[in-house]
Amino acid sequence: MPASEPDRVPGHRAARFPVVDPATGKTFDEAPDQQPDELDSVVDRARRAWHGWRADPAARTTALRVAADAVEAAGEELARLLTREQGKPLTESYAEIARTAARLRHFADLAPRTRRITDGRPVDSEIRWRSLGPVAAIVPWNFPLQLAAAKFAPALAAGNTVILKPSPFTPLATRLLGSVLATVLPEDVLTVVTGREPLGARLASHPGIRHVTFTGSVPTGRTVAEAAASSLARVTLELGGNDAAVLLDDVEVDRIADRLFWAAFRNCGQVCMAVKRVYAPARLHAQVVEALAERARTVVVGPGLDPDTRLGPVNNAPQLARVEQITRRALADGARAAAGGHRPAGRGNFFAPTILTDVPPDSPVVTEEQFGPVLPVLPYRSLDEAVDAANGTGFGLGGSVWGTDLDRAEAVADRLECGTAWINHHAELSLAQPFAGVKDSGVGVAGGAWGLYGNLRPFVVHRPQEV
Ligand code: NAD
Repeated sequence: MPASEPDRVPGHRAARFPVVDPATGKTFDEAPDQQPDELDSVVDRARRAWHGWRADPAARTTALRVAADAVEAAGEELARLLTREQGKPLTESYAEIARTAARLRHFADLAPRTRRITDGRPVDSEIRWRSLGPVAAIVPWNFPLQLAAAKFAPALAAGNTVILKPSPFTPLATRLLGSVLATVLPEDVLTVVTGREPLGARLASHPGIRHVTFTGSVPTGRTVAEAAASSLARVTLELGGNDAAVLLDDVEVDRIADRLFWAAFRNCGQVCMAVKRVYAPARLHAQVVEALAERARTVVVGPGLDPDTRLGPVNNAPQLARVEQITRRALADGARAAAGGHRPAGRGNFFAPTILTDVPPDSPVVTEEQFGPVLPVLPYRSLDEAVDAANGTGFGLGGSVWGTDLDRAEAVADRLECGTAWINHHAELSLAQPFAGVKDSGVGVAGGAWGLYGNLRPFVVHRPQEV
């Protein structure tokens, strides 16, 4: 780990904070509670490391490929720790680690294009690309490693250095990832800092940071944008979503039910672009509710380390309280739970997979982001009504349309106000595509070449053709 680690300071017993296993609700380890005043030296070292790292693109490509191999080699240890602190089934942790390595490889091989401008003047103008400096990457607890890699892989590939701050709910797998990468990357090129607030707030406002790239909730995103304004650092925000799935009247319910269920419930519903609302034609509504409820009643819920588990616990107690509160409110508003609707007896942050019907459209479970294993299914009478409802929240991350006539489904998808729209599936992303939310769901563009350029600035040289 970086020399900034408080445990490495001789004679200094660093403050630590507890890390809870969500499957038991009990503390199983602790992590360093780094203090904001440590950031000055962390950022200073990242700035010094930047000068060497930015100078050699070929060395960066090699280092990032080796880094991907190192992540895979540590896959088992990383996966077990990730499941322990995050809660997801072990197979999903392995998949997350594979996606972490894939991001490193993808960006290792991307380079910005130098371009000439010819506009008739006797001048050769060339657009080159320069890195920015130390980048702050602040990430949430739902996919701690994959979302971190989605930030540090393009930032590093572009020639920046990175200070990565995981959520205090999931600091340990990220620390381990930091140690693994420290064995293959030059010193201080990637530094992991862990701690409770105001560590993130101070990192976002630190004058030595040139780009703050944040993934998390809308309210924290606003705070981060305000904090970064103090140093006029660039800001990229990947924020919450409330994605709608619109089912068309030619949909084959039995054929899509599994896909639709998992698009909502994967990672226990804790996915920014999970399906969070389903709109079904009134004629098919009862059939859709029953198909989803049947799956919710029978899916195996349990600790992520148990090989039979398909759905783990909610990651943390505050999020569980939110899921419970938003569900209770829907039930009080007149909704009915076709499956679940409550916490099961026993230990851990579990919540029964829940399908809600008869939900008033203005209930918070429809208008806000539940971010948990609860899904409202709403009937509609006209397609315009469904599209208006799908577009009717402050969010705009993703959306999907499900039906047999693909041309018609695509025409409806084209009307969704969001960054990515899918037909007959949801939340599948290509590493090469831009990823951007509209409205409250984000600022800036991540993913593919856009993610690389988001970590670069243009530098233009004008050279006359004659002296
Ligand atoms: P959060 O906003 O509470 O926290 C995100 C990160 O910010 C954490 O590391 C947290 O410690 C840190 N933080 C908290 N207060 C801060 C402050 N004042 N200044 C700087 N940093 C601060 O979000 P969460 O609960 O960890 O994650 C869930 C949210 O993330 C959901 O809304 C989800 O939709 C969103 N999310 C979005 C995407 C996306 O790509 N759009 C991906 C995953 C999750």
